[in-house]
Amino acid sequence: MPELFIGGQWSAAADGQSREIRCPADGKLVATVDEGGAKDALAGVLAARDAFDRGPWPRTPAAERGRLLLRVADLLTRDKAAVARAESMDTGKRYVESEYDVDDVVGCFRYFGALATAGGTDRVVNIGSPEIDSRVVHEPVGVCALITPWNYPLLQTAWKVAPALAAGNTFVLKPSELTPHTAIHLMRLLAEAGLPDGAANLVLGAGPVVGEALTTDERVDLVSFTGGLVTGRHIMASVAPTVKRLALELGGKNPNIVFADADFDSAVDHTLTAVFLNSGQVCSAGARLLVENKVHDAFVDEVVHRARRIRLGGPFDEQARTGPLISEAHRAKVEAYVAAGLDEGAVLRCGGTPPTDPELRDGFYYLPTVLDDCTPGMSVVRDESFGPVLTVERFRGEAEAVAVANDTVYGLAGAVWTQDMERAHRVAGQLRAGTVWINDFHPYVPQAEWGGRKQSGIGRELGPAGLAEYQEAKHIWHNTAPRPQRWFE
Ligand code: NDP
Repeated sequence: MPELFIGGQWSAAADGQSREIRCPADGKLVATVDEGGAKDALAGVLAARDAFDRGPWPRTPAAERGRLLLRVADLLTRDKAAVARAESMDTGKRYVESEYDVDDVVGCFRYFGALATAGGTDRVVNIGSPEIDSRVVHEPVGVCALITPWNYPLLQTAWKVAPALAAGNTFVLKPSELTPHTAIHLMRLLAEAGLPDGAANLVLGAGPVVGEALTTDERVDLVSFTGGLVTGRHIMASVAPTVKRLALELGGKNPNIVFADADFDSAVDHTLTAVFLNSGQVCSAGARLLVENKVHDAFVDEVVHRARRIRLGGPFDEQARTGPLISEAHRAKVEAYVAAGLDEGAVLRCGGTPPTDPELRDGFYYLPTVLDDCTPGMSVVRDESFGPVLTVERFRGEAEAVAVANDTVYGLAGAVWTQDMERAHRVAGQLRAGTVWINDFHPYVPQAEWGGRKQSGIGRELGPAGLAEYQEAKHIWHNTAPRPQRWFE
């Protein structure tokens, strides 16, 4: 069956291209999928445009749109095992983590389904005259181009698709060329749930070809992108000539600040999950450990001791705790960051190479790595390596902790560990980040906004603001008793 979904039909790529998808855990072929090009992107845009301008979806009552999203959540629950398996084969991540991802995706569809069903975003503006009926209504933006990465393929797709549909938009989705299968499955479920033809379109293909065609097309009204900073900057320039709405989620270099009075075991434990979960391929990974000088040695010793014991393995290895990197090219990039860090004076405490285990030879694995004695100027500290690499910086006191934490172009997330709650909230208030955890790391909920400050991005996903990204506010002023003004007499 062909894998592009355009105007409610499954089709092959116009120029007949295809791409092999290989599992990063062992390099084995998962499937060969259609590789779309600019012609397919154009067909997707035209289908979405037509469905928006003439189709039923934007004119469907919000409550009915919400009910469709709730049906999608039910269908995803029904297909959880197949979806989780597809995600693990594409990404190499542990099957159990893919199951958690599907649960989160279901939660996202339920949240936006309920939000749409509840309605209530329109508002009456009381201007103090009984003759004027003034209200602000919220309409869908139009045709959305949704461009997503490979680290949490379905989850990051859901964060865009669910609110876009809840608000009544139509869209063209371009997932990462490396991880297309859960997006394909989602299209089937949207159709099964009864979404009208053309409201959801899927065009697989390379970012510089399909992505570029979508971001530059004047018939596209909004671009929502999650991925790397360099691509984000490029897209910002691509949309400028046609002045589109733009939402960017560009990752982070997130500080995990540990004060000497923190609960030692909890802070060590969460420091490991903060950075090594999904082999560090997480936009909110706690890749920068900032630890108070007084506790530095004992804390880092324990982190290193436990990092050395982390077992790597493929999706179905039940003993494994984390998996491979997405590709050979990505592993080479991570290796280059570590090498640069060592050149700049960092001290390698563990990892720093691929594993020697022959069973892992064919996958793109990299050992959990701790680099001590890092300083804010090092490239491995400043740039997102997006791998299992923890850099350690010391601080002396609260003011220095905040200054070092904020000394980054990114501003996605951060955490503070201390038993002094006044200090915890003081520090949380000063971190220039979209999310701050106190004595925790990583949790998020669909009810709360997610997004970055500074060069981590523009806009918010999830929460009421995540829906607002896909809405245009329109002020309607109704004069119920018009009479001449005689201004020009
Ligand atoms: P990219 O930013 O290149 O890719 C993200 C998405 O954008 C993919 O679907 C990609 O397509 C697409 N894309 C690429 N070029 C263009 C373009 N010119 N116009 C429109 N869309 C485009 O990320 P990578 O996958 O290459 O990863 C690079 C780095 O990005 C990582 O090492 C990491 O630092 C960061 N990253 C951050 C993520 C986050 O959650 N914030 C997620 C993933 C990566 P395709 O891949 O099909 O070519």
